[in-house]
Amino acid sequence: MISLLIKNAWLLTMKGKNAGFVENGAVAIDGDQILDVGTTKELESRWNARKTIDATGKAVLPGLIDAHIHTGMGLYRGVAQDMNNWLQKGVGPFFNNITGEEAAAGSMLNILEGIKAGTTTFCDYDYPMTLIVENHHRIGVRARLASTVNELPSDLHRIKVGEVYPLDESSGRNKLKEATRLMDEWHGKGNGRITCILGPQGADMMSRNLLLEMKDMAENYDTKLHMHVAQGDRETGQMMKRFGMRTIEYLDSIGYLDERLMAVHLTDAEENEVKLLAEKGASMIHCPGSIGLIDGIVPPVMAFMDAGGNAAIGSDQAPGNNCSNMFNEMKSAAVFNKIKAADPTVMPAEKVLRMATIEAAKAIGLEKEVGSLEAGKKADLIIINMKEPGLSPVILESVNNIIPNLVYAARGHEVETSIINGDIVMENRQVKTVNEEEVVNQAQSAAEALSGRIKKQQ
Ligand SMILES: [Zn+2]
Repeated sequence: MISLLIKNAWLLTMKGKNAGFVENGAVAIDGDQILDVGTTKELESRWNARKTIDATGKAVLPGLIDAHIHTGMGLYRGVAQDMNNWLQKGVGPFFNNITGEEAAAGSMLNILEGIKAGTTTFCDYDYPMTLIVENHHRIGVRARLASTVNELPSDLHRIKVGEVYPLDESSGRNKLKEATRLMDEWHGKGNGRITCILGPQGADMMSRNLLLEMKDMAENYDTKLHMHVAQGDRETGQMMKRFGMRTIEYLDSIGYLDERLMAVHLTDAEENEVKLLAEKGASMIHCPGSIGLIDGIVPPVMAFMDAGGNAAIGSDQAPGNNCSNMFNEMKSAAVFNKIKAADPTVMPAEKVLRMATIEAAKAIGLEKEVGSLEAGKKADLIIINMKEPGLSPVILESVNNIIPNLVYAARGHEVETSIINGDIVMENRQVKTVNEEEVVNQAQSAAEALSGRIKKQQ
């Protein structure tokens, strides 16, 4: 007797090179694992389950992977929009005044928002992680966590725009200690749902020595380096003044370009630079909504993929992108790149869906666990109601419109059920592990306290 059988679904397994569509599909789950994937007829003949979900009229696919998110910035939703110098002037005052408890309240809100829009894996990048990791553990999602390491001074927002930031070595040491503690205390917790990687924040925000120390650590832990790379003209300006090189040239010179590197953004990277990254085996995390809103730029993800690179998609953070909704990101990735190339054939829906599932899993180093529906993988999947007005009608003959409708029409609220590590975390739109109203109210109170303190300083 297995724990769960999902049947009569339109399955998108993401196995192989495409979406792996199965028309009357079923998934057999026992404990935290997928045991079998096939047609309903096949699986019904093979398995008896304690619980069965009839997914007639529904699409079932791997849970979405948000490959780059700062949930700790959840409270700053909408505070730094439509402006220049987003980092120092926009989010700076919030960043420097928030308490750990307030950041955790925003983080929980952000995670809840993500689950309700189909995200099951959160590649979260924050400091301090102490309470944020507890959120991921409690709410029951899969988390791939990096505790941010930098040597930025705490009064960054007071430094004149364009001036080279002074680096604070002791702050870097403390943050590195926290990253090590997170790794040692949390990696593998939650029945393997919580895993930890390393997160140097950016080449412009730390010394060469600290970057190299983190590279050594990544080798020792045999893990990934999740890092913002070439994230705009501010960074390039800092790099030229401090090191006399552009970011990617500098990273290459210190041996940083390899398969461990998850290069986030690449906003200011040139075509030859992203080609080099792809050739060296680094992954790219493309955050179209965030970079569109913060910088008004579409990063060179097409050039990176044309050179053979593996790219994933991320929502980044609430003050850049306003939302952490992978359906929004998938559509933005497709539309922005089609406009940039003036070509409707680039970034097709199926490719984009892969960038939020199996290719994202590869980028963050979890491809053996998640990203596709295959026997032996962890049971992370979502059930989407295709009878919602905005996703209807479903056409299977002559063309199959399920994938384009999921990528271009879904808003996230169509996700009915979310299963993570074999557990039903959301059922019929209700997240079962937290009180949703309480999460929203706590974030509201925390945001009011934070903005009140900032107002007093103005
Ligand atoms: Zn980021």
